[in-house]
Amino acid sequence: MTTRAPARARPRKRRKPDPIISWVRRLDRTRPGLPAYVLEELAGFYGHQIWQRRLDPTSELILTILTQNSADTNAELAFEELRKAYPSEGPTEQHRPGPGWGGRGLPDGVVPDWIAVEIAPLDELIEVIRPGGLPVAKAKGIQASLRAIRAARGDHSLEFLAEMSALEARDWLTGIPGIGKKTASVLLLFSFGMPLMPVDRHVERVARRIGMIPAKVTSGTDPHDLFLAMLQPDQMYEAHVNLIQHGRVICHARNPEHERCPVRARCRFVDPKAP
Ligand code: SF4
Repeated sequence: MTTRAPARARPRKRRKPDPIISWVRRLDRTRPGLPAYVLEELAGFYGHQIWQRRLDPTSELILTILTQNSADTNAELAFEELRKAYPSEGPTEQHRPGPGWGGRGLPDGVVPDWIAVEIAPLDELIEVIRPGGLPVAKAKGIQASLRAIRAARGDHSLEFLAEMSALEARDWLTGIPGIGKKTASVLLLFSFGMPLMPVDRHVERVARRIGMIPAKVTSGTDPHDLFLAMLQPDQMYEAHVNLIQHGRVICHARNPEHERCPVRARCRFVDPKAP
């Protein structure tokens, strides 16, 4: 009679740790209280921020596309040209840019006629938005986005997003080719107050220098999602506005003014061993 060797237990596969969760846990362990410290110091310097709607969501989307790789002041010029070239019969809208915005703020005006923008000859639209910079790519992006929204919804309104959770709404928007997490987060944060963090170059530079997010881009740690794991939903709006202000006012790309900085004591850019 042959005896069977006892079955060996198969080694369990270890799940790869989520790099976002790993980063947040490590930060908590090695630099406890850092995000709260940064938010508190920045609020002491720039003030507490109260959310208010900046624009209707479709205008916010198109204005955000116009800001891509351009100064906010130039995006404003291009948006005003859109209003002039394709006026709608809608009511006058007020732009409430708030302190995170880098332009002067749009004057009151009617929302552009989005159908007219969507079906405008491409060459014409390119000329209209030329003051905003990169007009060819942006004209194509604007028309493609408007087309995709109308194809999915029957019109260009994005008010329906208010019924979704923040991440569902972000997924819906990023399903449109050309709309990334930053653009989607801007729209949802500023038009609906959804707790999402748009990470533009200012926010990213400041956060990487301080060490809130890894100093270098690493796979699986998209800063948009790192912030969602690191902050409470009710901290998101103020964190975004004050980080962006800090990048504009003090933590410049070149010659950051460390001596004026309220978070210097815990910044890894000035002290690699900062707590
Ligand atoms: S200490 Fe300097 S590098 Fe660090 S956040 Fe402040 S200004 Fe930026």
